Amino acid sequence: MLDTIPEIDCDVAVIGGGIAGLSAAITAMHEGAEVILIEKAPKLQRGGNTGIADAQIRYPHEPDEYCPTGQSTEDFFNAFLRVSRGRANKDLIRTLVDNAADAVDWLTELGVQWEKGYPNVAGYRRQPVGGGWQLVDTLYKHLEREGVHVAYETAAEQLLTDRSGRVIGVRVLEPEGYTDVKARGGVVIASGGFEANPEMRVRYLGRFMDNIILRGTRYNTGEGLKMALEIGAMPAGQWGDFHSAVLDARSTPFECGVTAIYIFQLGLFIDEDGERFLDEGEDFRDQTYVKFSKAIMNHKNGVAFNIFDSKPRLEDPDAWKRAIRTAEDPYEAETLRELADIIQVPAERMERTIQTFNAARQPGTFDPLRLDGLCTKGLAVNKSNWARPLDTPPFLAYPVTGGITFTFGGLKANPNAQVMHTSGRIIPGLYVAGEPMGELYYYNYMGATSVLRGAVFGRIAGKHAARSRG
Ligand SMILES: Cc1cc2nc3c(=O)[nH]c(=O)nc-3n(C[C@H](O)[C@H](O)[C@H](O)COP(=O)(O)OP(=O)(O)OC[C@H]3O[C@@H](n4cnc5c(N)ncnc54)[C@H](O)[C@@H]3O)c2cc1C
Repeated sequence: MLDTIPEIDCDVAVIGGGIAGLSAAITAMHEGAEVILIEKAPKLQRGGNTGIADAQIRYPHEPDEYCPTGQSTEDFFNAFLRVSRGRANKDLIRTLVDNAADAVDWLTELGVQWEKGYPNVAGYRRQPVGGGWQLVDTLYKHLEREGVHVAYETAAEQLLTDRSGRVIGVRVLEPEGYTDVKARGGVVIASGGFEANPEMRVRYLGRFMDNIILRGTRYNTGEGLKMALEIGAMPAGQWGDFHSAVLDARSTPFECGVTAIYIFQLGLFIDEDGERFLDEGEDFRDQTYVKFSKAIMNHKNGVAFNIFDSKPRLEDPDAWKRAIRTAEDPYEAETLRELADIIQVPAERMERTIQTFNAARQPGTFDPLRLDGLCTKGLAVNKSNWARPLDTPPFLAYPVTGGITFTFGGLKANPNAQVMHTSGRIIPGLYVAGEPMGELYYYNYMGATSVLRGAVFGRIAGKHAARSRG
């Protein structure tokens, strides 16, 4: 005899409890909707990538204690578009930009406390005190206080539709088996990308992508995207690309968290043959860290060394500490030759590379907070800014590589966060927020905006779904 699948009812079902899902669930609840939050992870591992991140946020606003320069809406919009080489969906980034300050105020009202993030002239930023973990904990506590049902260890598997094509719920797998969660207002997909799914990584990102360091949660395995595509949702955005960062190559292979080297631009990248291969000072770190991490992964055996002399560490120990986020110690030596021996790079070649670099430096004044134009000339690969000689021992080396944070491919959505069908019409009852929304990031990443987009579009999705419950 076939078992009958039990059903439960609500107004809004939200799939995934990171910043996007939490923002959707809280907003829908504030609209008076009955909400169920479906979360695959156990309670102790809740929060998704958001909970593992620093959760730094950069957004356009007037000068304040976190951002002494401020940034105008138009500058922010244009920078976002530029970083995506003009491909980001203008309607979506306009919505993001216009609603960003409101979203940050809303998080503050919910009890999130802020501190200064890592400074960078391309955009100062703030981060929650206690990082992403504290951010999601604050939001979960708010939901819990209001009595919202959070179904942990429950994986959404399949969208339920009626004959008109409207999404009326979602089938989930709980520890006891399947349940159909019926949702009168709609279902919000906020279940991250496919970064933790090796099969999908190989399928969309390339042959060797089964073996890449996973920075974030193991649970973002792409079901939200798959189940939407199965009912005809339009794929959108850059399915063949992803966010990555310059990481300590000794990071654990999954859920390593923040192990990045965020100050690489003040040093040099040296490959296994002792050569430079990137213009480390091409632009501010925010504009280069994603593409450099991929360039390192694609260069020779995929690991390089970030070499520093002692000046950055001695001159600003606080900035150094906040920017070197690995817990591993650097390799350290009094001479470049000794350092090369330790990291097993041909010593003569590495020494020659760095001496040639030092000699090619042009006059100018070093300023880490500006594109200072302190450059080299005449090298096969020049350095465009911050090109100080490496001449102050001890010398330090971090082995670096890339690691995947989240995927760029997603679903086509309108500014109401409603998912579009391949036929061009809206799929009634289906919303998307956070990582599975496509068309925001292409090739590169606008630093410190992924948590923000989760909050902005999560709130929009939650509100629209709640108001559609009839
Ligand atoms: C180490 C690290 C540092 C970062 N630093 C920053 C930063 O400083 N600033 C910034 O803006 N961004 C940063 N990011 C990126 C950013 O944190 C994420 O992209 C963003 O928080 C994603 O939010 P989200 O809500 O879309 O997804 P998530 O927070 O990942 O939430 C998705 C949730 O969906 C759940 N889920 C998945 N599949 C299912 C399913 N089938 N059923 C039910 N639940 C499911 C997951 O368990 C997870 O809880 C960082 C990421 C990492 C990993």
